Amino acid sequence: MKKLDISKLDVLSLIRYDACTRCGECTVTCPTGGEAQEDELVTPRGKILRLRELHRAQYGLKAKLFGPKEIPQDQLTELSRRAYECTICGQCKTVCPAHLDTIEMWENMREFLVHNGLGPMPEHDQLIKSIENYDNPWMQPRTQRSRWARRLENDIKVKDALKEKCEVLYFVGCTAAYDPNIKEMALNTARILSKAKVDFGTLGNEEGCCGSTLLRTGLIDNARKMAEKNIEMFERAAPSIIVTSCAGCYKTIRQDYPKMGKVQPKVMHITEMVNELLDSGKLVLDKRMEQKVTFHDPCHLGRHNGLYDEPRRILRHVPGLELVEMERNRSESRCCGAGGGVKTAFPDLAQKISDIRIDDAEKSGADMLTTSCPFCYQSLKTTIEARGSKLKMTDLMELVASACKD
Ligand code: SF4
Ligand code: SF4
Repeated sequence: MKKLDISKLDVLSLIRYDACTRCGECTVTCPTGGEAQEDELVTPRGKILRLRELHRAQYGLKAKLFGPKEIPQDQLTELSRRAYECTICGQCKTVCPAHLDTIEMWENMREFLVHNGLGPMPEHDQLIKSIENYDNPWMQPRTQRSRWARRLENDIKVKDALKEKCEVLYFVGCTAAYDPNIKEMALNTARILSKAKVDFGTLGNEEGCCGSTLLRTGLIDNARKMAEKNIEMFERAAPSIIVTSCAGCYKTIRQDYPKMGKVQPKVMHITEMVNELLDSGKLVLDKRMEQKVTFHDPCHLGRHNGLYDEPRRILRHVPGLELVEMERNRSESRCCGAGGGVKTAFPDLAQKISDIRIDDAEKSGADMLTTSCPFCYQSLKTTIEARGSKLKMTDLMELVASACKD
């Protein structure tokens, strides 16, 4: 008989499972349960009730008096699948009247599943092995990590933060560093920092994956190793500020690293830094753009970190640019479908969710859709192209770099 080891379920999560009132508010807005699949078991409430049931069957009073109930393997496999069919978008957390921190619950649920040999999904194996062997999920050599910077103009100097002191450390992240379609995000970030005369550098080839993928899929021990390596380099570089252009790296370094080690520098997302640069006049956006733009809130930036105003303030700085909102925006924003390992393990589901988000963007009447996360960018851009939408996809830093004063 398979007996579940609950040692990895933290006490707070167990209390939260019991605190769920089954009201079902979360089932309406959940992108994977409520909208794309209409399957109760994949909804937050469904997952909570199933885990609670399994837990009681083995550790409840009846189990203590009469012995634990056998849990068939197919029920465990199903729970695992449902747990991973979640983008960890946090929409359920924002609507839950019981104020349950479902983001922490899902991550802890995955840690528990991994500990019991029930996670992650086999489709995640390649990504995980790649992070272990190459320090990035894309099976790219470490020696090529800083190659993106070769495409910068000659007058832009990116310091090696491990050799030269710099005030700001730009943490590039795996996707912007390696993905040919996303490299522009790193290039534009460097251009903007350089234009505003920010003293910045990177960790070059020494930068490792932030570990977000590992954390979100429940591989906490593996993530800790990545975090420790990066934190050690932050200490060596000793900048005052770490800035990221990836919403996932931002969430990981800002919220998760402090649980695993001491991060001395202030951690900022590039949208926060650009706001400061605009306020101080170090950056001026003066090129007119006669377009209508709508902003997609990345879950890791918005619901996970509360950065809703910063990207919108930037857009309002561009002369001629009109910001129009999608019906679901800010804390109600729909997810792009790519997070939490869903795109890798359940690409069809990710596609469905992304399609619904592009419907939202088209209905807003915008000509252009912008965001500030490489995963959202990639996912939404692919859908725009696949359905031949007239929307133009841009990364917010691309827009800022083109609107910058010469
Ligand atoms: S985090 Fe998002 S995808 Fe996951 S259960 Fe909550 S609403 Fe659904
Ligand atoms: S909204 Fe909160 S309390 Fe209501 S069913 Fe969902 S998780 Fe439970």
